[in-house]
Amino acid sequence: MAKFLIGHYCFLIYNLIMKKIRVSLSEKGYFIYMGYPLEKLGHMLTENRYGKKVMLLTDTNVFPFYGNMVKKILVKSGKDVFDVLVKPGEQSKNLRKVCEVIENCARNKMSRDSILLTLGGGVISDLGGFISSIYMRGINYIPVPTTLLAQVDASIGGKTGVNLPFGKNLVGSFYQPSFVYVDFNLLSTLPEKEIKQGFSEIIKYGIIKSKKLFGILSSIHISGEKVLMYNQLKEILPTLIEKSIMIKKTVVEKDEKETKGLREILNFGHTLGHAIEISHFPEMTHGDSVALGMVGESYLSYKLGLCKKEVYTSIKELVKKFGLPFSYSQIKIKKCIGTLIYDKKVKDGKIRFVLVKRIGCVKSGVVVEKVQVEKILREIQKDEKT
Ligand code: ADP
Ligand code: ZN
Repeated sequence: MAKFLIGHYCFLIYNLIMKKIRVSLSEKGYFIYMGYPLEKLGHMLTENRYGKKVMLLTDTNVFPFYGNMVKKILVKSGKDVFDVLVKPGEQSKNLRKVCEVIENCARNKMSRDSILLTLGGGVISDLGGFISSIYMRGINYIPVPTTLLAQVDASIGGKTGVNLPFGKNLVGSFYQPSFVYVDFNLLSTLPEKEIKQGFSEIIKYGIIKSKKLFGILSSIHISGEKVLMYNQLKEILPTLIEKSIMIKKTVVEKDEKETKGLREILNFGHTLGHAIEISHFPEMTHGDSVALGMVGESYLSYKLGLCKKEVYTSIKELVKKFGLPFSYSQIKIKKCIGTLIYDKKVKDGKIRFVLVKRIGCVKSGVVVEKVQVEKILREIQKDEKT
């Protein structure tokens, strides 16, 4: 009986975490298997639409942790797997790498029903998703995100692409995966710095759509060193990931291809964020830049009279609490202003921001003059000790 009870208890816990979330789109909808253990991945690939051949695209940091395990699982489910490893980091997200990997697809005789499975963070899913969308005009694409940022953001929403020297993600496509497979345990090896990057996007979700999520984040107690590790956060992470995924999915469902102006809200913090990231590459990571971007854009919102000062200070405090930057004395203001023109929200040469009205509610399409943006960047520059 005791054995049964223990077994039954474990089963319940398992099922509380595992969720199959449907992303409903006009053409091709798909499922996000959230909280599923890696071992179950093989079961998902038995459908007829999936052929035998799988390219496992990952990076040289991730492969030693999970590469062989994934290969074993795939082989066990009858797949013929070969791996392609790229160097970690943004520098692999370029057109040269796209050509290299595509030639590898052809050399390995991948066909329309083959699978490109990405195992890694946003860099790997952006690169692999783009390749899946153009090789033979589209093959099965399955992201298995291994960073917090990729689990809550990059692997969902169908945006794929690579960078050009002029800006981030300037070449890409909208391409939906066959499904997304989110195993929280993959985050157990993620360095603290990378966990923080994910929190930057989670904070964003709270600001744009959920006062409740913002409240949960505000109530997390953080003290001491290395607190942002998976082990310290594993009780709360599934909730935060689920809430973030639900917000992103809902927005994407309403405006899949960013044509209705609704999806723009996901860009909160990213107008300044991208400018900072490009202008300070490689020192500034995406999450750090977005954190600065959120502080800057909420300050801008306050200065333009869109929100109360407390909204700005509460955002800044939250960013600070999660160890993300809220000021940057080295900021290259002129360079940032110069790169703003490559923002995808620019229309007729006008820079358009997503600004905050209150926590959980933002306004998109706010045109702001460059001089005003410059003032905000100066604030970010001098605010170091506050
Ligand atoms: P993102 O765009 O999602 O922030 P990247 O693809 O740039 O992430 O990955 C960030 C870094 O974390 C890279 O160096 C990558 O190799 C490493 N990484 C990704 N997932 C894991 C993991 N689960 N454990 C350890 N390191 C990881
Ligand atoms: Zn982002």
